[in-house]
Amino acid sequence: MPRIALRPENAQQAQLLRLLRDHGPRSRAELGEAIRLSRSKLAHEIDRLTELEFVESGGFAASRGGRRSSIVRLSRDLRFVGVDIGATSVDVAVTNGELEVLGHSSAEIGVHNGPPTVLDTALDLLGKLRAEGVAPDIHGAGVGIPGPVSFREGVPVAPPIMPGWDQYPVRETMSQALGVPVQVDNDVNLMALGELHAGVARSVDDFLLVKIGTGIGCGIVVGGELHRGVSGSAGDIGHIQIDENGPPCACGNRGCLEAYASGTALARDAMAAARAGRSPRLAELLEGSGALSAADVTDAVSVGDPVAVQLLRDGGHRVGQVLASLVSFFNPGLVVVAGGVAGAGHSLLAEMRSAVYRRSLPLATGNLPIVLSELAAAAGVVGGARLISDQVLSVPRGIDER
Ligand SMILES: [Zn+2]
Repeated sequence: MPRIALRPENAQQAQLLRLLRDHGPRSRAELGEAIRLSRSKLAHEIDRLTELEFVESGGFAASRGGRRSSIVRLSRDLRFVGVDIGATSVDVAVTNGELEVLGHSSAEIGVHNGPPTVLDTALDLLGKLRAEGVAPDIHGAGVGIPGPVSFREGVPVAPPIMPGWDQYPVRETMSQALGVPVQVDNDVNLMALGELHAGVARSVDDFLLVKIGTGIGCGIVVGGELHRGVSGSAGDIGHIQIDENGPPCACGNRGCLEAYASGTALARDAMAAARAGRSPRLAELLEGSGALSAADVTDAVSVGDPVAVQLLRDGGHRVGQVLASLVSFFNPGLVVVAGGVAGAGHSLLAEMRSAVYRRSLPLATGNLPIVLSELAAAAGVVGGARLISDQVLSVPRGIDER
């Protein structure tokens, strides 16, 4: 390290590289058909990509009669890094060029510890993975953080649950530490990219990913691309107001969706129920630890505690009400539900579905699956790798795209 940033030289090379990333090794014949290049032009671009050490030979395809076509694959040495900073934990993964996870490591650390501590933890986790030999060299990193991000500048902007992070140069800090290109985005956007690349949303061009964790957010994919809005705040549904006289929210307003249905709100309501003597199970958990978390609620749900089940149902109903409006507005082909709270129980998903199906028009919901995330904890890190691979496998701005 530091190394010269590797980038394709023209649009055809970028297209070839993304095809190999998304679909794996391909024969020259298949590549020629997919991007409509003449045989000689294709051979020239593949030669250049081989010289740049972006691609390598993957042997020969099974003969379809006549000459056997040779297989082209992304270099076995390509490595992308995904970093997923959550409210209470950090996940780091290293992927190959096809974004398959080669190593994944995580640590419990609260985002309130501030950027230097949290980013150092991420770098330590990556250092340990590299010491195991999964990434002799890395080519870029994508970082997700649990708050609003100015994507262009790579900085968080006034994140409600992240003291000390406002305008902190996350992209510059990580890029300097690693000596490679880095991109920073909201964690929910990265989860949507992860599901688009390798999860339940593969082959879906227009979908929403709703994350219910410590906070609540929504990733919006339109035509196979993330929609971030003008300044990067698209999908910040946690602060849609449900009732102006509702409970206070971390953002300073009252009655936001998050104040009703996030993990934080669930924990608050569970403690109230435990103290009021309405749930022996929650009271027992509270006595053991002195405070309750959303995980305690899901623990109580798993043993059939009726108060905990009702809390989760109420949360699902609130999210479903907001989601019904989003479905009417956006008409997605799929809704993916993710996050720690979402994984907790079927009752939450069932309530969300019934609220959406009851309130949206049949034309919008007639063919609308509402499903749990397939990648779960890996969605954010795979999305981070996908985000930075989109940059590394594209033509640098300012170069003529012939
Ligand atoms: Zn709010």
